[in-house]
Amino acid sequence: MLGTARLRYWAGLVLKVLAVWFAKVLLQKQPIMSTFVDDEIDVIDGVESEDEVDFVEEMRLPEEKKVDDRLSVGSRTYGCKHYRRRCRIRAPCCKEIFDCRHCHNEAKNTNEVDDSKRHDIPRHRVEKVICSLCDHEQDVKQVCENCGVCMGEYFCTKCKFFDDETEKEQYHCDACGICRIGGRDNFFHCDRCGSCYSNALQNGHPCVENAMHQNCPVCVEYLFDSVMDISVLPCGHTMHQICLEEMNMHSQFCCPICSKSTQNMSRVWERLDQEVYLTPMPEEYRQKKVWILCNDCGTTSDVYYHVIGHKCLRCGSYNTRSTCPPSQSRRAEPRPSMGMLPEAIESSVSPNPAQPGRTLAAEMSAE
Ligand SMILES: [Zn+2]
Ligand SMILES: [Zn+2]
Ligand SMILES: [Zn+2]
Ligand SMILES: [Zn+2]
Ligand SMILES: [Zn+2]
Ligand SMILES: [Zn+2]
Ligand SMILES: [Zn+2]
Ligand SMILES: [Zn+2]
Repeated sequence: MLGTARLRYWAGLVLKVLAVWFAKVLLQKQPIMSTFVDDEIDVIDGVESEDEVDFVEEMRLPEEKKVDDRLSVGSRTYGCKHYRRRCRIRAPCCKEIFDCRHCHNEAKNTNEVDDSKRHDIPRHRVEKVICSLCDHEQDVKQVCENCGVCMGEYFCTKCKFFDDETEKEQYHCDACGICRIGGRDNFFHCDRCGSCYSNALQNGHPCVENAMHQNCPVCVEYLFDSVMDISVLPCGHTMHQICLEEMNMHSQFCCPICSKSTQNMSRVWERLDQEVYLTPMPEEYRQKKVWILCNDCGTTSDVYYHVIGHKCLRCGSYNTRSTCPPSQSRRAEPRPSMGMLPEAIESSVSPNPAQPGRTLAAEMSAE
Protein backbone atom coordinates (compact mmCIF):
# COMPACT_ATOMS: atom_id res chain seq x y z
CA MET A 1 0.00 0.00 0.00
CA LEU A 2 2.91 2.31 0.78
CA GLY A 3 4.15 1.74 -2.83
CA THR A 4 0.85 3.12 -4.35
CA ALA A 5 0.93 6.27 -2.20
CA ARG A 6 4.50 7.01 -3.23
CA LEU A 7 3.61 6.45 -6.89
CA ARG A 8 0.68 8.88 -6.58
CA TYR A 9 2.98 11.49 -4.98
CA TRP A 10 5.57 11.22 -7.78
CA ALA A 11 2.93 11.29 -10.52
CA GLY A 12 1.50 14.49 -8.97
CA LEU A 13 4.91 16.10 -8.88
CA VAL A 14 5.63 15.25 -12.52
CA LEU A 15 2.27 16.74 -13.54
CA LYS A 16 3.03 19.96 -11.62
CA VAL A 17 6.46 20.31 -13.27
CA LEU A 18 4.89 19.73 -16.67
CA ALA A 19 2.23 22.37 -16.00
CA VAL A 20 4.82 24.97 -14.97
CA TRP A 21 6.98 24.17 -18.00
CA PHE A 22 3.98 24.42 -20.34
CA ALA A 23 2.99 27.82 -18.94
CA LYS A 24 6.55 29.09 -19.42
CA VAL A 25 6.66 27.94 -23.06
CA LEU A 26 3.36 29.68 -23.73
CA LEU A 27 4.63 32.92 -22.23
CA GLN A 28 7.89 32.84 -24.16
CA LYS A 29 5.96 32.60 -27.42
CA GLN A 30 4.81 36.20 -26.99
CA PRO A 31 6.98 38.53 -29.07
CA ILE A 32 8.58 41.53 -27.48
CA MET A 33 7.16 44.23 -29.73
CA SER A 34 3.47 44.99 -29.40
CA THR A 35 3.11 45.77 -33.08
CA PHE A 36 3.74 42.15 -33.94
CA VAL A 37 1.17 40.69 -31.57
CA ASP A 38 -1.64 40.97 -34.08
CA ASP A 39 0.44 39.22 -36.74
CA GLU A 40 1.12 36.37 -34.36
CA ILE A 41 -2.61 35.81 -33.87
CA ASP A 42 -3.17 35.85 -37.60
CA VAL A 43 -0.60 33.10 -38.01
CA ILE A 44 -2.26 30.89 -35.40
CA ASP A 45 -5.70 30.63 -36.91
CA GLY A 46 -6.17 33.41 -39.42
CA VAL A 47 -8.90 35.03 -37.34
CA GLU A 48 -8.38 38.12 -35.22
CA SER A 49 -10.89 38.83 -32.47
CA GLU A 50 -10.91 41.16 -29.48
CA ASP A 51 -11.21 38.21 -27.08
CA GLU A 52 -8.06 36.62 -28.38
CA VAL A 53 -6.14 39.90 -28.07
CA ASP A 54 -7.35 40.22 -24.45
CA PHE A 55 -6.32 36.64 -23.77
CA VAL A 56 -2.85 37.25 -25.17
CA GLU A 57 -2.59 40.50 -23.17
CA GLU A 58 -3.48 38.66 -19.95
CA MET A 59 -0.90 35.97 -20.53
CA ARG A 60 1.93 38.50 -20.65
CA LEU A 61 4.26 39.31 -17.83
CA PRO A 62 4.02 42.84 -16.37
CA GLU A 63 7.65 43.57 -17.36
CA GLU A 64 6.94 42.70 -21.00
CA LYS A 65 3.98 45.06 -21.00
CA LYS A 66 6.23 47.77 -19.60
CA VAL A 67 8.81 47.21 -22.37
CA ASP A 68 6.06 47.40 -25.00
CA ASP A 69 4.59 50.56 -23.53
CA ARG A 70 8.04 52.11 -23.46
CA LEU A 71 8.74 51.20 -27.09
CA SER A 72 5.66 53.04 -28.34
CA VAL A 73 6.06 56.20 -26.22
CA GLY A 74 5.91 59.34 -28.36
CA SER A 75 5.17 57.51 -31.62
CA ARG A 76 4.27 60.07 -34.32
CA THR A 77 4.72 63.05 -32.00
CA TYR A 78 8.38 63.67 -32.86
CA GLY A 79 10.07 64.44 -36.16
CA CYS A 80 10.17 67.11 -38.83
CA LYS A 81 8.13 68.09 -41.87
CA HIS A 82 9.65 65.13 -43.75
CA TYR A 83 9.37 62.22 -41.31
CA ARG A 84 7.72 61.26 -38.02
CA ARG A 85 10.51 59.64 -36.02
CA ARG A 86 11.96 59.70 -32.55
CA CYS A 87 15.59 60.46 -33.22
CA ARG A 88 17.79 63.03 -34.89
CA ILE A 89 20.96 62.31 -36.82
CA ARG A 90 24.54 63.54 -36.45
CA ALA A 91 25.66 64.46 -39.98
CA PRO A 92 28.93 62.60 -40.69
CA CYS A 93 30.06 65.42 -43.00
CA CYS A 94 29.73 68.56 -40.90
CA LYS A 95 29.14 66.84 -37.53
CA GLU A 96 26.02 68.92 -36.90
CA ILE A 97 22.68 67.54 -35.67
CA PHE A 98 19.62 67.51 -37.95
CA ASP A 99 16.12 66.01 -37.86
CA CYS A 100 16.74 64.11 -41.12
CA ARG A 101 18.90 64.15 -44.22
CA HIS A 102 16.44 66.40 -46.10
CA CYS A 103 16.63 68.96 -43.29
CA HIS A 104 20.42 68.76 -43.55
CA ASN A 105 20.41 69.19 -47.33
CA GLU A 106 17.98 72.08 -47.19
CA ALA A 107 20.17 73.86 -44.65
CA LYS A 108 23.51 73.01 -46.24
CA ASN A 109 22.61 73.06 -49.90
CA THR A 110 19.41 74.86 -50.81
CA ASN A 111 19.70 77.67 -48.28
CA GLU A 112 23.48 77.93 -47.90
CA VAL A 113 24.72 81.12 -49.53
CA ASP A 114 28.43 80.31 -49.19
CA ASP A 115 29.22 78.01 -52.14
CA SER A 116 32.22 76.42 -50.41
CA LYS A 117 30.01 75.16 -47.58
CA ARG A 118 27.38 73.56 -49.82
CA HIS A 119 27.08 69.78 -49.62
CA ASP A 120 24.67 66.82 -49.45
CA ILE A 121 24.79 64.35 -46.59
CA PRO A 122 26.36 60.96 -47.42
CA ARG A 123 23.21 59.17 -46.21
CA HIS A 124 24.67 55.69 -45.78
CA ARG A 125 27.51 57.00 -43.65
CA VAL A 126 25.34 58.24 -40.79
CA GLU A 127 26.73 56.59 -37.65
CA LYS A 128 25.24 58.43 -34.70
CA VAL A 129 21.65 59.17 -33.74
CA ILE A 130 20.27 61.19 -30.87
CA CYS A 131 17.14 59.91 -29.11
CA SER A 132 14.45 62.60 -29.20
CA LEU A 133 13.06 61.55 -25.82
CA CYS A 134 16.19 61.31 -23.69
CA ASP A 135 18.74 63.15 -25.91
CA HIS A 136 21.19 60.25 -25.61
CA GLU A 137 23.63 60.04 -28.54
CA GLN A 138 24.46 56.50 -29.65
CA ASP A 139 25.36 54.27 -32.60
CA VAL A 140 22.57 53.78 -35.15
CA LYS A 141 20.01 51.27 -33.84
CA GLN A 142 16.24 50.95 -33.67
CA VAL A 143 15.68 51.00 -29.89
CA CYS A 144 17.32 53.64 -27.69
CA GLU A 145 19.91 51.96 -25.48
CA ASN A 146 19.32 54.50 -22.73
CA CYS A 147 15.54 54.89 -22.42
CA GLY A 148 14.25 51.89 -24.38
CA VAL A 149 12.05 53.85 -26.78
CA CYS A 150 11.65 52.68 -30.38
CA MET A 151 13.15 55.50 -32.46
CA GLY A 152 11.34 54.46 -35.66
CA GLU A 153 8.71 51.78 -36.23
CA TYR A 154 10.19 51.27 -39.69
CA PHE A 155 13.95 51.00 -39.45
CA CYS A 156 16.48 50.14 -42.16
CA THR A 157 19.98 49.22 -40.98
CA LYS A 158 21.43 49.74 -44.45
CA CYS A 159 20.02 53.23 -45.03
CA LYS A 160 20.08 54.24 -41.34
CA PHE A 161 16.51 55.27 -41.96
CA PHE A 162 13.74 55.73 -39.34
CA ASP A 163 10.04 56.41 -39.91
CA ASP A 164 7.04 55.97 -37.61
CA GLU A 165 4.50 56.23 -40.43
CA THR A 166 4.49 52.59 -41.50
CA GLU A 167 1.34 53.08 -43.59
CA LYS A 168 3.73 54.41 -46.28
CA GLU A 169 4.72 50.73 -46.67
CA GLN A 170 8.45 51.36 -46.76
CA TYR A 171 10.71 48.64 -48.08
CA HIS A 172 14.40 48.37 -48.85
CA CYS A 173 15.33 47.45 -52.44
CA ASP A 174 18.79 45.89 -52.56
CA ALA A 175 19.19 46.60 -56.27
CA CYS A 176 18.33 50.29 -55.78
CA GLY A 177 20.34 50.34 -52.56
CA ILE A 178 17.79 52.62 -50.90
CA CYS A 179 14.43 52.42 -49.14
CA ARG A 180 11.30 53.10 -51.17
CA ILE A 181 7.63 53.47 -50.30
CA GLY A 182 4.47 51.89 -51.68
CA GLY A 183 4.85 48.26 -50.63
CA ARG A 184 7.37 45.73 -51.88
CA ASP A 185 4.65 43.66 -53.56
CA ASN A 186 3.50 46.57 -55.74
CA PHE A 187 6.86 47.18 -57.40
CA PHE A 188 9.50 45.34 -59.38
CA HIS A 189 13.07 46.38 -59.97
CA CYS A 190 13.93 46.98 -63.64
CA ASP A 191 17.66 46.43 -64.07
CA ARG A 192 17.91 48.38 -67.33
CA CYS A 193 16.00 51.45 -66.18
CA GLY A 194 17.86 51.09 -62.88
CA SER A 195 14.97 51.58 -60.50
CA CYS A 196 11.82 50.14 -58.94
CA TYR A 197 8.80 50.52 -61.21
CA SER A 198 5.11 49.94 -60.51
CA ASN A 199 3.89 46.44 -61.36
CA ALA A 200 1.53 48.06 -63.87
CA LEU A 201 4.60 48.72 -66.03
CA GLN A 202 5.99 45.20 -65.82
CA ASN A 203 4.64 44.03 -69.16
CA GLY A 204 6.04 46.18 -71.90
CA HIS A 205 7.35 49.46 -70.61
CA PRO A 206 9.95 50.86 -72.99
CA CYS A 207 13.23 50.40 -71.12
CA VAL A 208 15.57 53.35 -71.28
CA GLU A 209 19.10 52.66 -70.03
CA ASN A 210 19.38 54.26 -66.57
CA ALA A 211 16.18 56.24 -67.13
CA MET A 212 15.93 56.98 -63.45
CA HIS A 213 19.55 57.97 -62.94
CA GLN A 214 19.03 61.36 -64.57
CA ASN A 215 17.73 64.75 -63.64
CA CYS A 216 14.12 65.70 -64.26
CA PRO A 217 14.21 67.49 -67.65
CA VAL A 218 11.98 70.26 -66.27
CA CYS A 219 13.31 71.11 -62.79
CA VAL A 220 16.68 69.26 -63.05
CA GLU A 221 16.36 67.52 -59.66
CA TYR A 222 18.00 64.06 -59.59
CA LEU A 223 15.14 61.58 -60.04
CA PHE A 224 16.48 58.35 -58.56
CA ASP A 225 16.07 59.25 -54.91
CA SER A 226 13.51 62.01 -55.31
CA VAL A 227 10.72 61.89 -52.74
CA MET A 228 8.19 63.24 -55.25
CA ASP A 229 6.00 61.07 -57.52
CA ILE A 230 7.63 60.17 -60.81
CA SER A 231 5.93 59.62 -64.16
CA VAL A 232 7.21 57.18 -66.73
CA LEU A 233 6.26 58.55 -70.15
CA PRO A 234 5.15 56.25 -73.01
CA CYS A 235 8.64 56.79 -74.53
CA GLY A 236 10.28 55.44 -71.34
CA HIS A 237 11.74 58.76 -70.21
CA THR A 238 10.98 59.88 -66.70
CA MET A 239 10.11 63.11 -64.95
CA HIS A 240 8.30 64.32 -61.84
CA GLN A 241 4.54 63.87 -61.99
CA ILE A 242 4.11 67.48 -60.89
CA CYS A 243 6.49 68.75 -63.60
CA LEU A 244 4.54 66.80 -66.23
CA GLU A 245 1.31 68.39 -65.00
CA GLU A 246 2.99 71.78 -65.21
CA MET A 247 3.90 71.05 -68.85
CA ASN A 248 0.33 70.00 -69.63
CA MET A 249 -0.96 73.23 -68.13
CA HIS A 250 1.19 75.07 -70.64
CA SER A 251 -0.09 72.93 -73.52
CA GLN A 252 3.17 71.04 -73.85
CA PHE A 253 2.40 67.46 -74.68
CA CYS A 254 5.72 66.12 -75.90
CA CYS A 255 8.69 64.66 -74.06
CA PRO A 256 11.38 67.30 -73.47
CA ILE A 257 14.04 64.67 -74.17
CA CYS A 258 12.84 62.89 -77.32
CA SER A 259 9.79 64.95 -78.42
CA LYS A 260 7.44 61.96 -78.49
CA SER A 261 3.87 62.56 -77.27
CA THR A 262 3.55 62.27 -73.50
CA GLN A 263 0.05 60.81 -73.62
CA ASN A 264 -2.59 59.34 -75.87
CA MET A 265 -3.36 62.19 -78.26
CA SER A 266 -5.80 60.40 -80.59
CA ARG A 267 -8.75 62.61 -79.68
CA VAL A 268 -6.71 65.75 -80.27
CA TRP A 269 -5.57 64.41 -83.64
CA GLU A 270 -9.21 63.69 -84.58
CA ARG A 271 -10.09 67.26 -83.74
CA LEU A 272 -7.23 68.53 -85.90
CA ASP A 273 -8.40 66.26 -88.75
CA GLN A 274 -11.76 68.06 -88.66
CA GLU A 275 -10.16 71.46 -88.55
CA VAL A 276 -7.88 70.73 -91.47
CA TYR A 277 -10.96 69.54 -93.38
CA LEU A 278 -12.95 72.67 -92.47
CA THR A 279 -10.11 75.08 -93.28
CA PRO A 280 -9.33 74.85 -97.00
CA MET A 281 -6.05 76.48 -97.95
CA PRO A 282 -6.09 79.34 -100.47
CA GLU A 283 -5.95 78.14 -104.10
CA GLU A 284 -2.26 79.05 -104.60
CA TYR A 285 -1.15 76.81 -101.66
CA ARG A 286 -3.25 73.73 -102.45
CA GLN A 287 -0.57 71.93 -104.42
CA LYS A 288 2.34 72.96 -102.16
CA LYS A 289 3.99 69.95 -100.47
CA VAL A 290 6.36 69.75 -97.50
CA TRP A 291 8.57 67.04 -96.03
CA ILE A 292 7.80 66.17 -92.42
CA LEU A 293 9.45 64.01 -89.79
CA CYS A 294 7.12 62.39 -87.26
CA ASN A 295 8.29 62.82 -83.66
CA ASP A 296 6.20 59.83 -82.58
CA CYS A 297 7.16 57.12 -85.11
CA GLY A 298 10.20 58.64 -86.80
CA THR A 299 8.78 58.32 -90.32
CA THR A 300 9.59 60.91 -92.98
CA SER A 301 6.83 61.67 -95.46
CA ASP A 302 5.81 64.41 -97.90
CA VAL A 303 2.37 65.89 -97.28
CA TYR A 304 0.29 68.82 -98.51
CA TYR A 305 1.19 72.01 -96.72
CA HIS A 306 -1.46 73.17 -94.23
CA VAL A 307 -1.49 76.05 -91.80
CA ILE A 308 -3.12 73.97 -89.02
CA GLY A 309 -0.67 71.14 -89.04
CA HIS A 310 0.88 68.20 -90.83
CA LYS A 311 -0.29 64.68 -90.21
CA CYS A 312 2.13 61.74 -90.31
CA LEU A 313 1.10 59.40 -93.12
CA ARG A 314 2.17 56.34 -91.13
CA CYS A 315 0.79 56.79 -87.58
CA GLY A 316 -1.61 59.72 -87.96
CA SER A 317 0.14 61.93 -85.40
CA TYR A 318 0.28 65.71 -85.82
CA ASN A 319 3.36 65.74 -83.57
CA THR A 320 5.57 66.35 -86.61
CA ARG A 321 8.10 68.90 -87.77
CA SER A 322 9.27 69.99 -91.19
CA THR A 323 12.42 68.36 -92.42
CA CYS A 324 14.58 68.24 -95.55
CA PRO A 325 13.77 65.79 -98.32
CA PRO A 326 15.26 62.32 -97.67
CA SER A 327 18.13 62.79 -100.13
CA GLN A 328 19.49 65.75 -98.11
CA SER A 329 18.59 64.55 -94.65
CA ARG A 330 21.78 62.61 -94.15
CA ARG A 331 23.81 65.77 -94.54
CA ALA A 332 21.61 68.13 -92.53
CA GLU A 333 19.74 66.53 -89.65
CA PRO A 334 17.01 68.88 -88.47
CA ARG A 335 17.41 70.33 -85.03
CA PRO A 336 15.17 68.50 -82.54
CA SER A 337 12.46 70.72 -81.13
CA MET A 338 13.44 70.36 -77.49
CA GLY A 339 10.46 70.70 -75.22
CA MET A 340 8.49 72.62 -77.82
CA LEU A 341 4.87 72.15 -78.71
CA PRO A 342 4.21 69.86 -81.59
CA GLU A 343 4.27 72.00 -84.71
CA ALA A 344 0.62 71.15 -85.31
CA ILE A 345 -0.56 72.41 -81.95
CA GLU A 346 1.55 75.52 -82.09
CA SER A 347 0.21 76.57 -85.44
CA SER A 348 -3.37 75.82 -84.48
CA VAL A 349 -3.20 78.00 -81.39
CA SER A 350 -2.37 81.38 -82.83
CA PRO A 351 -2.61 81.99 -86.56
CA ASN A 352 -6.24 80.96 -86.87
CA PRO A 353 -8.33 84.12 -86.46
CA ALA A 354 -11.57 82.14 -86.50
CA GLN A 355 -10.88 80.86 -82.96
CA PRO A 356 -8.95 83.50 -81.05
CA GLY A 357 -7.13 82.37 -77.94
CA ARG A 358 -8.03 78.72 -78.29
CA THR A 359 -5.62 76.32 -76.64
CA LEU A 360 -5.63 72.58 -76.60
CA ALA A 361 -5.17 72.49 -72.84
CA ALA A 362 -8.87 73.01 -72.26
CA GLU A 363 -9.69 70.14 -74.54
CA MET A 364 -7.20 67.90 -72.79
CA SER A 365 -8.52 68.55 -69.32
CA ALA A 366 -12.11 67.99 -70.39
CA GLU A 367 -11.30 64.40 -71.29
ZN1 LIG B 1 26.80 68.03 -43.59
ZN1 LIG C 1 16.23 57.51 -25.48
ZN1 LIG D 1 16.96 50.91 -46.81
ZN1 LIG E 1 14.71 48.89 -56.84
ZN1 LIG F 1 12.89 49.10 -67.74
ZN1 LIG G 1 10.89 67.89 -62.00
ZN1 LIG H 1 11.04 60.73 -74.33
ZN1 LIG I 1 4.23 58.90 -87.22
